[in-house]
Amino acid sequence: MKILLVNPPRFEGMTICRITRCENIVRESVITPFDLLIMSNIFKDRGHKVFFIDANADDIDYKQLEKDIDRIRPDVTIFHASQDCFKYDLETAKIAKRYDSKTVLINWTFKTMVNEVYEDIKEWVDCFVVNHSYMVDIPDTIENLPKIITKDTEYDFDKLPFPDWDLIKDFRKYYTRIKRISPYAVTATSFGCPQHCLFCNYRNTGFQFRTPKHVVDEMEILVEKGVKYIHFYDGTFNVSKKRVNDICDEILRRGVKVKWMINARADNWDYELAKKCKKAGLDGISFGIESFSQEILDECKKGITVEQNVQAIHNAKKAGIKTNLSLMLGLPSENRENINDTIKYLKTTKPNGFFISPYGMCALPNTYWFEEARKEGRVFQKWDKLHIWGNWESFCQYSPEELQTIRKNIYREVIWSWEYLTSNFLWIITHPSDITIGIEFLISSIQKFLNDWRYHR
Ligand code: SF4
Repeated sequence: MKILLVNPPRFEGMTICRITRCENIVRESVITPFDLLIMSNIFKDRGHKVFFIDANADDIDYKQLEKDIDRIRPDVTIFHASQDCFKYDLETAKIAKRYDSKTVLINWTFKTMVNEVYEDIKEWVDCFVVNHSYMVDIPDTIENLPKIITKDTEYDFDKLPFPDWDLIKDFRKYYTRIKRISPYAVTATSFGCPQHCLFCNYRNTGFQFRTPKHVVDEMEILVEKGVKYIHFYDGTFNVSKKRVNDICDEILRRGVKVKWMINARADNWDYELAKKCKKAGLDGISFGIESFSQEILDECKKGITVEQNVQAIHNAKKAGIKTNLSLMLGLPSENRENINDTIKYLKTTKPNGFFISPYGMCALPNTYWFEEARKEGRVFQKWDKLHIWGNWESFCQYSPEELQTIRKNIYREVIWSWEYLTSNFLWIITHPSDITIGIEFLISSIQKFLNDWRYHR
């Protein structure tokens, strides 16, 4: 069979992340779609002919994509759609259909609304995949595709092949936020998250992980291909401290020289581990802090204390690892006092960067609060309005418009504060290799305030 794997074009010029855990507009990063590339190797191993188009990275528009599909004439076209621009991404299926290709659409966000969405898209989509084990289920059913795949299959992430990195000829087109952080590759050491945070649609997804040997084997392949930064896109890299330790040991034992980044929680993280990770090449860590209010952390069942969050940031910075904090705004108990706590701690913990997710304040399907609101009949929007600039539904005392203003004011108050600016200036003085990154970061922060605020992440 001729199989075409497509990462659809950018949306209004903005880059998109369509990997399951994070199906949204990222604008400032271009991410390697490692999950499509894993499927590529599975298909090839089974004798299929695979084609891959990363229209997002190559900035190919739909006109060009249509020419490519006309040239390839695939039997099946497999693509991801982000909930932020779902209807736009659907254009990929419409084009493929014109050339008699079967179509498979992968999306995670609409898992709990699958039938409703499928009714509206079935004209163009032969198979709508909303499960978590899609990388194995799509190849397994390719000869006889079901209309919808919702059920997860047990599989061993460590037994899957590596992503088909040979399909990427130039890693310089991939970067994260700062264009200098390139050549860059996104991959994962694990899939799923066993935690239960109520605002997150990735919660309770189990934890399939790769062995340290497998992880470091892939790092070596990427280094050979000229990659200078590897971003492990795991929901939580440090689910197990032992596993992180073992990965570092393997990197150090083999002497692999590459910078890497992770997403982590503040627990399972101490100074000894931070030092070891730094020695093994860890350059940046994004902590899922969510809030510096204990009331909010308890309410969303984060299972972490403010003190743990503060200590984790301190430990990472002391070890020389850059820190980025991920925060939420608009959870049910949000009030002025909680917001002030977050501002206060942002100024005292002084991370290198932070972002406030808009998703705490909008209705994101497959999260606890959204599903509760749906059960109680408090969600009135149709599925295609549920995205960051659709018709938001606030869960707290503030309206979506008020939350957006609060969000912007937090950025303004913290980024331009004396504490934040001096701390980042001092970081650059003491870490001269970060000077160019620091300057680009400052420019991009200014641009944020000048750009259309709705899209800001
Ligand atoms: S730790 Fe919580 S927020 Fe992070 S991926 Fe897991 S469930 Fe989601």
